[in-house]
Amino acid sequence: MKYCQNCGKEIPENASFCPECGAAVKAPASPEVNNVPQNRKVCPETHLALAIITTILCCLPLGAVGIIKASRVSTEFQAGNYEAALKYSADAKKWSIIAIIVGVVGILAYFALIVGAAIISEL
Ligand SMILES: [Zn+2]
Repeated sequence: MKYCQNCGKEIPENASFCPECGAAVKAPASPEVNNVPQNRKVCPETHLALAIITTILCCLPLGAVGIIKASRVSTEFQAGNYEAALKYSADAKKWSIIAIIVGVVGILAYFALIVGAAIISEL
């Protein structure tokens, strides 16, 4: 129920003038979303190149997940599923980063093993 801002009486929801005092009733503020001009949506980054590079250089299974996610970005975007495309874009980036971390840790562990073996064999 709305109230008149002039006299404070209850007024019908759809009334544009107060039946009591005749004051004009302010239209409810339209939600902010409607005031924002609809930007043309741009396809989210696929991170496909990043996924391919990590697959080649680092960790094949994890990088492959990134490639699959990356390839879904443009597919979903073209199907009009902007939210899904955004999600796959974030996923592709996430999996590529995981692949890089796993790859780097793996390489470091590998070198640590070689160095460790070399040190032990010197003893
Ligand atoms: Zn009134």
